Amino acid sequence: MKKSIKLSDIKSVVEHAHDKFKDLKGGKNADYIPFLSNIDSNLFGISVCLPSGTIIEVGDTDYVFGIESISKVHTAILALEQYGADTVLKNIGADATGLPFNSILAILMENSHPSTPLVNAGAISAASMVKPLGDPQGKWQAIVNNMTDLSGSGLQLLEELYQSESETNYNNRSIAWLLKNYDRIYDEPDMSLDLYTRQCSMGVTTTQLAIAGCTIANSGKNPVSGKQVFKPELMPNIVSLITSVGFYEHTGAWVYTSGIPAKTGVGGGVMGTLPGVFGVAAFAPPLDGSGNSVKAQAAIKYISHEIGVNVFSGDHIEIIE
Ligand code: GLN
Repeated sequence: MKKSIKLSDIKSVVEHAHDKFKDLKGGKNADYIPFLSNIDSNLFGISVCLPSGTIIEVGDTDYVFGIESISKVHTAILALEQYGADTVLKNIGADATGLPFNSILAILMENSHPSTPLVNAGAISAASMVKPLGDPQGKWQAIVNNMTDLSGSGLQLLEELYQSESETNYNNRSIAWLLKNYDRIYDEPDMSLDLYTRQCSMGVTTTQLAIAGCTIANSGKNPVSGKQVFKPELMPNIVSLITSVGFYEHTGAWVYTSGIPAKTGVGGGVMGTLPGVFGVAAFAPPLDGSGNSVKAQAAIKYISHEIGVNVFSGDHIEIIE
């Protein structure tokens, strides 16, 4: 079906979403990374970015928080851009694990590949693939440049978060070396893990995430800077990865109820992308049991229902500004 949606209607739905869920109770800040447990639990922001470059912002949209696992999407895009869809499929995979984000069991069960670049094992493997191989500075620069290009502006490393996470990431250290055991890491394991930990510790705003989500929705062309960040033909691969595992073991229920492919992070952010239509992001620190922001989920679901968009509907959406 062809549907026309007015910009003013999207704006008021986003405002209502913020108003409706700002006092929503439930969930708690991530506490396995000490830095995250101290972030103000009441922060709440929602941003939407349209392919025209128009941005809607409500609440704490300029607060800089830890991007955490949402960065897995950014680095997956970089690996796809550097190697192409077939090699990423062969080296890492594109299967949902159905298990928590940091699952060791998933690696043991499917030891022929780390499953998907959007869980910890596959994300560490993706960081290992980033070129130039063997050059930690060069690899880090490539990761940062790609994040900047997707977001339309620079992200800052949150040093304290990086320290906090580096000191406590015992599970991820096991993952990196288990990948080595199965020949599924493509550069030095400790260096790859450090790159992954650093990329997760980048500070981001909901607006930067909405712009990145819209860059994906817009086939790789950043709506704000105008830069073509990745090859347009990679967009369906990227969206399929997000759709199949963006909420880890709850991804099926998420896409079933929201209709928005989205990726979460334990910093409290969620980045959604609706091909051809918009990027949406929300941030609020308290998480459910699987590490997904309670308020951000509620807000994005409300927005998709109220404005009547769904990636599976087959609707052709036109936004009238
Ligand atoms: N850096 C975090 C970790 O590896 C990211 C987890 C997440 O956001 N789900 O544990």
